[in-house]
Amino acid sequence: MNSPLRFPFVSSIVLALTSFASADHHGDGAHIETTEVASGLYMLHGVGGFTGGNIGVSVGDDGVVMIDDSMPPFLDQLQEQLAVITDQPIAFLINTHVHGDHTGNNAALAKSGARIVAHERLRSRMKTDPESSDDGLPVITFTEEMSFYLNNQPARLIHTPHAHTDGDSIIVFTAANVIHAGDTFFRGLFPYIDLDSGGSVDGFIAAQERLLKLSDDQTKIIPGHGPLASKADLKRDLAMLKDAQKLVAGFIASDHDIDAILEANPLAKYHDDYNWGFITTERMTRTLYRSVAGR
Ligand SMILES: [Zn+2]
Repeated sequence: MNSPLRFPFVSSIVLALTSFASADHHGDGAHIETTEVASGLYMLHGVGGFTGGNIGVSVGDDGVVMIDDSMPPFLDQLQEQLAVITDQPIAFLINTHVHGDHTGNNAALAKSGARIVAHERLRSRMKTDPESSDDGLPVITFTEEMSFYLNNQPARLIHTPHAHTDGDSIIVFTAANVIHAGDTFFRGLFPYIDLDSGGSVDGFIAAQERLLKLSDDQTKIIPGHGPLASKADLKRDLAMLKDAQKLVAGFIASDHDIDAILEANPLAKYHDDYNWGFITTERMTRTLYRSVAGR
């Protein structure tokens, strides 16, 4: 069970968030907005509803380096937002991981000349996914780490093993002190840890510890989902996850099965702050149970 989950993931997340969107927004629905996070570096993010994962963009004379590309219904908006900040074409498109809300426009953008870069395991998952087109495959891959020196903006691509999936990358713009964390960071939300695509709770925690080490109090972190974040925001979410894992592990150690744990609801204290449509408190508890109990 791996890649076939990719599209159901997107449709269920869209369904879950459509209801939030219609509740909060009375205008023309979900749309993409652009925020400049450092000179030549931008975050493109959804407002008024779910538009896919947060996008990072580096702009300069070497062409656009883009990180993630949302989903097909938002391709036009994405291109409109890019046109406001640059007239350069997309030279390279980095995929932080395989999920369709981060890679949905790969084929369209590759057709207009973007060269797609990603972890090797993302490519192999995409390649074997019968619903995924070969036109959107990465043409450059790496396994541990690689560097970009474009637009006077040095960037490290670092693989964080078995975290959100088994093909995750984080991107660190070292001079600008900006990090795109992909889905190793859902700011202020229970995280989705895709155990069926090689993710793991321990790996997710290790990825966030790595992000903390790479950050200081001035670092701006673009999470995969949620608003632009600081090191303090990440610290808080990591502390929650570690505590949640410990709470569930405690129940497992005293022989509680999943039904008894759900009944006891050890994550109740985090519900108001972290529960959301796609990863509810119950779903987070089930993921922690499955990961800790190994079943
Ligand atoms: Zn994801």
